[in-house]
Amino acid sequence: MGLFREPQREPTPTGAEATEGGSAGAAATAPAGLLAKLRRGLKKTAQLLQTDVRDLFVADGRLLDEQYLDELLGINIKTDMGYQSAEQIVQQVRQNMRGRVVTTEQVVATWKATLKELMAQEAAPLQFAATGPTVILVCGVNGSGKTTSIAKLAHMLRLEGKRVVLAAADTFRAAAVEQLTIWAERSGVEIVTGAPGSSPPSVAYRAVDRARELGADVCIVDTAGRLQTQKNLMAELTKVQTTLRKQIPDAPHEVLLVLDATTGQNGISQASKFTQAVHCTGIILAKLDGTAKGGVVVAIRQLVGLPVKFVGVGEHIEDLARFDADSFVDALFEDLVPGAGGSTGNRPRG
Ligand code: GDP
Repeated sequence: MGLFREPQREPTPTGAEATEGGSAGAAATAPAGLLAKLRRGLKKTAQLLQTDVRDLFVADGRLLDEQYLDELLGINIKTDMGYQSAEQIVQQVRQNMRGRVVTTEQVVATWKATLKELMAQEAAPLQFAATGPTVILVCGVNGSGKTTSIAKLAHMLRLEGKRVVLAAADTFRAAAVEQLTIWAERSGVEIVTGAPGSSPPSVAYRAVDRARELGADVCIVDTAGRLQTQKNLMAELTKVQTTLRKQIPDAPHEVLLVLDATTGQNGISQASKFTQAVHCTGIILAKLDGTAKGGVVVAIRQLVGLPVKFVGVGEHIEDLARFDADSFVDALFEDLVPGAGGSTGNRPRG
């Protein structure tokens, strides 16, 4: 649990987030706010990738032979996207261009298009309840960025005009409750807490009651950060879910797992353990800005199969972006080939 810094940038204008777009495949029309946030989140990864790519190319083109393809494979693996995904990209480039003298633009176009296909996911906006409060359960190991992500999500929903109640059901960590309380107050969001060590399901229950009483749109339930090996704690998470269902039969409407992007592919094993205990519906990938291995999003898409719904791109309260695969890929290559579109030109076959 770290200190959540005061926002120093201008507050995000009301309504700006609402138009950020939550659908995949909308890069060409993605609003500037979303692109700017993804750029911020991918800065380290993009810098490393683009330096490597510049080393690979020569101005007047280079013969695309097996040595070239080996180098391309290495660059992709370095981003932590996983061997399989890197190999698929290389395969596609080989199929399209082997034996030709190629330019940066040509290879990057195929590269981007293949990446976009690898990352493609159904549009995954938050599922809202038809009536009554939408309940969002948030889980993840300690230190993953769970508390911060909850504060950011509450803030984003507030800016979109939703009334939000938080349930500080991570009653094992007094500091987490305090931190969340401070941010709830600043964002104008109500928070329900319990005494340290009190029963998490009871806090969740009271918060949902309060949300109904207030006619709130969303109740976000923080759960204890836990190690995936602690079976008793996993069972407790299931208990929170069971309690919620007594109040609202189809709750929770979303179960979001917070993963720390800086832990790389270890995060994937965490995700699969969590999804065994509770039915997770999506991922918040926190601290994307803190790593040069942002390709881990590709690995998550390939191996976990859950949609990445949000990415954390900094420590400020507005540093949360809805995830969009096309914008993600565009931001990754942006400075390398200005204006090059990944969805045109050498689109991979098959
Ligand atoms: P928790 O233990 O899972 O609740 O984690 P916290 O929310 O307390 O976050 C742990 C640390 O990660 C804190 O220092 C946060 O400021 C930091 N953090 C969380 N999300 C992000 C993010 O998206 N980017 C960066 N750079 N830091 C983050």
